[in-house]
Order: sequence, then structure tokens, then C-alpha cells
Amino acid sequence: MRRIAIVGGGQAGLQLALGLQADGHQVTLVADRTPDQVRGGRVLSGQAMFGPALRIEAEAGLDLWADEAPSVRTFRFALCVPPGVKALDFTMAPDDPVQSVDQRIKFAGWLELFAERGGDVQFRSLGREGLHDLARRHELTIVAAGRGELAEVFERDPNRSPFDRPQRTLTCLYAHGIGSPDPATEPAARMYALPGLGELFLQPAVTLSGPCGVLLWEAVPGGPFDIFGDSPAPEVQLDRMRKLMAEYLPWEAELWTEAEPTDAGAGLSGAVNPVVRRPVAELGSGVDSVHVLGLGDAVTVSDPITGQGSNSAARAADAYRRAIAEHGDAPFTADWMYRTAEGFWQEYTRHSVRLTADVLTMPEHVQGAFAAAAEHPEVARRLANTYTEPSDHAAWLATPELTAAYLASVRASARG
Ligand SMILES: Cc1cc2nc3c(=O)[nH]c(=O)nc-3n(C[C@H](O)[C@H](O)[C@H](O)COP(=O)(O)OP(=O)(O)OC[C@H]3O[C@@H](n4cnc5c(N)ncnc54)[C@H](O)[C@@H]3O)c2cc1C
Repeated sequence: MRRIAIVGGGQAGLQLALGLQADGHQVTLVADRTPDQVRGGRVLSGQAMFGPALRIEAEAGLDLWADEAPSVRTFRFALCVPPGVKALDFTMAPDDPVQSVDQRIKFAGWLELFAERGGDVQFRSLGREGLHDLARRHELTIVAAGRGELAEVFERDPNRSPFDRPQRTLTCLYAHGIGSPDPATEPAARMYALPGLGELFLQPAVTLSGPCGVLLWEAVPGGPFDIFGDSPAPEVQLDRMRKLMAEYLPWEAELWTEAEPTDAGAGLSGAVNPVVRRPVAELGSGVDSVHVLGLGDAVTVSDPITGQGSNSAARAADAYRRAIAEHGDAPFTADWMYRTAEGFWQEYTRHSVRLTADVLTMPEHVQGAFAAAAEHPEVARRLANTYTEPSDHAAWLATPELTAAYLASVRASARG
């Protein structure tokens, strides 16, 4: 049994805390909000989770809302040209269904589960000094505190960070009563890309009051969609969204006439600064020096345009859990921390970061892949599965040559 501390009660921290607890370790979890505060607070994410992450949760017995959350099998994608014309339209179906459970439900429920199983939970917001103190009293301390200030103990890695500023401003709203263009195929997600303006995603999900739709609006900074910087109340947010839809996506506006926010905390607005940090930080010096290991958004933040963050957090938590099990009784040195984090970066995160950067910037060959997806279901399927398993990005989307070779082979076999 090892003495392990985890800071942060989110996807990565809670999943890892529950996993290590199940493995027989003595785990201390520091969370800055109680379950009631989480449930009664604002929405936190869109949290669409793909097959591999859902399987990790299921194998750990943590898929407590799998029967309530809609299983989404299709994504309708449209490229739209203002004012309100669909230039491209196709359906992407990943091999595995996608689910979204409001993180307010999940994090509150997992916090309670961890405590019920005898876990030590400390409700406080930890600063650098508190973290140093915690780390001195544990064999291993993992920081999974998301995008908050504490992440700044980890230095930004300029070589791996894809951008130095947010690429989109975001507004996210949970709503009931959203209509469907094709009720027979529900639950389905919808994705719209409006070049130069932004993107809009609608994901079926489950929230505190039952099934709902999560709308995520990504705006190119300074453009006509970038009008939520004042973090408006959900009703005002919905009103502005309807006006934008009426102008840019009129067929979508018709589906929103009956919509209403799910609750007082249904809206979230802001921006995500994509950053990759060095995963190990040294706190203190000399005999007081200790190292801490970063996990999830604390070390890698991606714009939600490709829905990578929760998936990456879940998979990283699983990778760390396995690395801790394999390490036996050996000391958790800084070298072990680097190797563990680097292994996950090489296997997974670097691909997810590149995929997201490409979808944000849409180089010509990636535009070509989307255009080909409208003609060839096989390409649409591979595109969808690359969101699920971003390491495939390296095999066909990483360079214009790779994409051209793959698309040529698809076209050749289509010609027979
Ligand atoms: C609008 C939006 C939509 C998104 N949509 C998706 C999506 O569809 N799919 C997807 O995969 N990802 C999505 N993401 C990203 C995803 O939500 C995050 O990547 C994921 O939650 C990261 O998990 P984490 O555990 O690292 O951090 P978090 O889930 O942020 O958890 C960190 C926890 O640490 C706590 N904390 C912070 N500071 C301290 C401190 N000092 N002391 C103690 N506790 C602290 C926080 O309160 C929080 O509970 C979206 C994000 C946004 C903003």
C-alpha cells in the first residue's frame, strides 16, 4: 500500500483516486468543492466521451450513469457558408457510441463514492505552499487541478504548446426542448463549421434534470459569434444564440423555438488557452525539495473543438494507475514521473494535440479530408474514429502527402 495524494476532484483526479483506492492504496484527495457545491454550481464542460474512455470507466465500475446517458451513434456534419447555406453535408458514425454525462452529476457522485469507500477527502483550495506541504507527507503527489492557477507550478513547454493564445472564445449552454431535423435517427449529434466565423456543436447528454442537449459555440475571436464575453445569464445567452442561428443557420433556429435552459447554472462562457506544460514540478529546494506529477488539464489543455480533454484525462488517469501498479514498492522518483508522463505523451497526447490544432486551423489537406468524407462514407468513418483514437492522425492526417495517398487509395477502390 502506497500513500498517494491527488489534488483535484475532476475527471482525471477522481477517476485515478477511485482506481488507486480499489488497488488498495491509501489515497488522500484534495478537492476545492463539496458534492453539493458541484451539483449546485455551473456546468463545467460538454464532456462528450468516446468509446475507449467509456470502456475505462466501465471496467473500473465507474460508469454509473451509462444507462441514463443517450448513446450517440451519428454526427451530422455540415460546412456552412454565410448567409445560411450548407455547402457540404454528411454523417460521421464512429465505431463506438459517444456519451456525455454532465460533470456536475459525475464529479459529485464520484466524490461521494470515494468518501463512502473510506477515502480521505479534504475540501480546500490548495495553493503552492499547501501543495508543497502535502507532497512532503506523501510518497507520490499528483496534481489534477485542471486549468486553475495551481497548474502554473508546471512550466509551459513552448516546443510542445501548439498556440500561445486562445484560438476561439466559447459559449456552452445546456437546454431542454431542442428539436431534431430527423427524429427517427435520434440521438444524434450535430456539427457545423462556418469558416472564418467559428463552429457549433450539439451533443445529446444527461444532466441533473434528465436528457438534454449541450450546445457548444466556438467563435473566432473578434468575429460576429464572439458576443458572449460578458458571461450572460442562460436566458440571455439563449436569446443571443437564437439570433445568430436565425442569421447563419436558419434551419437550426427553427429547432430552437421551444428550447429553454436546463437550470440556473446551464451556461458557461469563456476561452480555453491551449497549452502543454512540463509534467513534473520541483517544489522547495535542498532537503525540502519534492517533485509532483501533473495529470489531465493541469498539464495539457486542448480547445474543446475535437472533444479531446475529458477523453485524454480519462486515458491519462488510466495510464498512471497502471504505471503505479507496475512500479511495485519502488520509490516514486522524479525520473519515474518523467518517464510515466512522457510515455503517455508519446503514445497519446501528442496526437490529440496535433489533431486539435489541425481542426482549429484547417490546413488545406485537412479540408480535403472533410470534403472527401462527404463523398466517401469510409473517409467519414475514419475521420470520426480519429477523434476517438487520435493516434491515427499520424497515419493519415499529419501531412498533405499522407492524406493524399490515403484519399487516392479510397478513390481508386471506389472506381473499382
Ligand atoms: C466548454 C467546454 C466544453 C468541453 N467539451 C468537451 C468534450 O465534449 N469532450 C471532452 O473530452 N472534453 C471537453 N472539454 C474539456 C474537459 O472538460 C476537460 O478537459 C476535462 O474536464 C479535464 O479533466 P481534469 O480532471 O484534468 O480537470 P477538471 O475536470 O477541470 O477538474 C479539475 C478539478 O480540480 C479542482 N481544482 C482546481 N484548482 C484546485 C485547487 N487549487 N485545489 C483543489 N482543487 C482544485 C477544480 O475545481 C476541478 O474540480 C470541454 C471543456 C470546455 C470548457
